[in-house]
Amino acid sequence: MDAKETLKVYFGYDSYKPGQEEIIAAILAGKDVLAVMPTGAGKSVCYQVPAMLLPGITIIISPLISLMQDQVKALNESGIHAGYINSSLTEAQISRVYARALEGTYKLLYVAPERLESHEFTDFAGRMEISMVTVDEAHCISQWGQDFRPSYLKIVEFIDSLRRRPVVSAFTATATEEVKTDISCMLKLQDPKAVATGFDRENLYFDVETIRKKDDYVLEYIKEHPDDSGIIYCATRKNVDMLYELLSGAGVPVTRYHAGMNNEDRKESQNDFIFDRSPVIIATNAFGMGIDKSNVRFVIHYNMPQSMENYYQEAGRAGRDGEPSQCILLFSAQDIMINRFLLDHKDFTDIPDEDIDLIRQRDARRLQVMEGYCRTTGCLRNYILTYFGERREKPCDSCGNCHREFTQTDMTEDAKQVINCVYETKGRYGLNIILGALLGADRARLKELGVTGYKTYGALKDRPEAELRALISQMIMDGYLYQTADKYSVIRMGDIKPLKDPDTHVLIRTYKDREPDRRTKGRGRKGSDTLTKAGYELFDVLRKLRLAIAREEGVPPYIIFSDKTLIDMSAKAPHDRTGMFRVSGVGEAKYDKYGERFIRAIDSFMSENPDAVTSMAYEEDDSNENIQSGKKRKEGASFDRVEYNRKRNRPDGAGASWTEEEDKQLDEEYDLGMTVSEMAKAHERTYGAIRARLKKHGLIE
Ligand SMILES: [Zn+2]
Repeated sequence: MDAKETLKVYFGYDSYKPGQEEIIAAILAGKDVLAVMPTGAGKSVCYQVPAMLLPGITIIISPLISLMQDQVKALNESGIHAGYINSSLTEAQISRVYARALEGTYKLLYVAPERLESHEFTDFAGRMEISMVTVDEAHCISQWGQDFRPSYLKIVEFIDSLRRRPVVSAFTATATEEVKTDISCMLKLQDPKAVATGFDRENLYFDVETIRKKDDYVLEYIKEHPDDSGIIYCATRKNVDMLYELLSGAGVPVTRYHAGMNNEDRKESQNDFIFDRSPVIIATNAFGMGIDKSNVRFVIHYNMPQSMENYYQEAGRAGRDGEPSQCILLFSAQDIMINRFLLDHKDFTDIPDEDIDLIRQRDARRLQVMEGYCRTTGCLRNYILTYFGERREKPCDSCGNCHREFTQTDMTEDAKQVINCVYETKGRYGLNIILGALLGADRARLKELGVTGYKTYGALKDRPEAELRALISQMIMDGYLYQTADKYSVIRMGDIKPLKDPDTHVLIRTYKDREPDRRTKGRGRKGSDTLTKAGYELFDVLRKLRLAIAREEGVPPYIIFSDKTLIDMSAKAPHDRTGMFRVSGVGEAKYDKYGERFIRAIDSFMSENPDAVTSMAYEEDDSNENIQSGKKRKEGASFDRVEYNRKRNRPDGAGASWTEEEDKQLDEEYDLGMTVSEMAKAHERTYGAIRARLKKHGLIE
């Protein structure tokens, strides 16, 4: 069996994702590899496929127990024998794993880095033929990284102790130069093949919502996406608990996770989430390391994270199956306060003094980058990619900012009034009193405090309150004002020197939505236009079957088939074994276990809905030839394609026959590097139709 066959038979894929083929070929040619791959890029296949083909065993060093268990479960499910050794096993269980490995049962063995120091393990390793050592999360070896693990430093000693040096492959999602150099040096990689796949995750839609009423937003969002699984990250335990009460009170099946809970409760929460018993989890950033759930459709950040590295890692837990998913950050000026507070109270025990300053500076810089993300009016995706070193010329057209139009208002003069007002309060009052003063509100409390006697009382009474709120948050973000982080949260004077410069302007951005419908519905899973309405009905049927099987077998649903596989299965609606193998993600072992049950489900759906067309692509292809499930669709003078399409919310040209010229144009656009969405726009066709056509031309798989 070669690599391609292994990929198909065990993993069910017909083709490689970017980078995979190069990496696998290099390993099989005996070369070391350093691969930088973002989450969801199909990293594990890169070492699992060669591990199946190399003569000896592959040792995978992985820092995360839960991830190890998940991967081993998934491998065994696919008919590949794999084991793991970590602190969750008893001594007796560990001995059994060694014995089985020595008998040659396993092709892959996952170990925690601490294990490399144990004599038992080195003895065992001495008796095995080790073909490859794979270092997962290799950035843990770098002191530059945020996840430095001292035990990773032992890896190279372990490799040196082996009789024959195996191939060493290192994988990470962190791309900065310092980290890459560190990995290469510290692991003593020998002339490694370096592969970096792009950081862009095309299926993720990024958005920043600057709002105060975050709770309402979250509730509304979850109501609109009742079938979707998602993670809501909060900065503090208090917020987790508060939001948990709110959502569970509203009847949402939700669970929570933070470091203040005991181990057992945390484990239970995590499992409820993974097994889709509670499709939504509210958590602090303690949650998620090693979670490999592929069908997370949204990640909402209730608070701004402390760095872009954190944000991209957490947001990147959405859409691992490649299906459209949303990453939404809810932002308010208060987030900056919270973060400054958290950084000011960071624990520096055991850290040498000379490092503390460096770390503080680094943290402050990271926070600035994050603030910039929340405030930019440019393309959000490009902001992220630029930060990670990937330059893009054009906006992505698939993020909140690309779908918004901003207008900027110069509020410099109003800002000066706000400063005067804060001066008059002597820094004693919070936002509401200041707003009341500026607006000239008629409130007893204002009289009581003597605010009605201020020079600035009523100075901005013509301004809408919302605008003034926006102005004050902006001034806090710009540092002109300072809001204390304690419970009284008063507003004090910040650094106003820059305002004395006549060239300094305070600009407030307001935006209106270009596509209001898009923001409330239609994104997320339903944004994928591979499936027709009937297709989604079938998808739901298959999803229920998957859940039932998952409960029977006590495994997470996505281990059986990913959402992506079920979507493809719904589109192709296969009725036999051969058809099933055309579905991406269906390999032999999976077919043997589940194939027939899924075929039966599809058959019964089809017999109940004999005219059902489940795939957009097929619907279009069929209408080209004027046949649709045996029925003729007349395309005479009476058929108004544009009107027909508009009613169905499809591009004007969807379903029209392809002319030779249009085909030629498509090929040229493809060569120019246009994205599928850009081509869809240019041709006024659906995303799915363009993909289907490109496939037909043999340009994509
Ligand atoms: Zn964009």
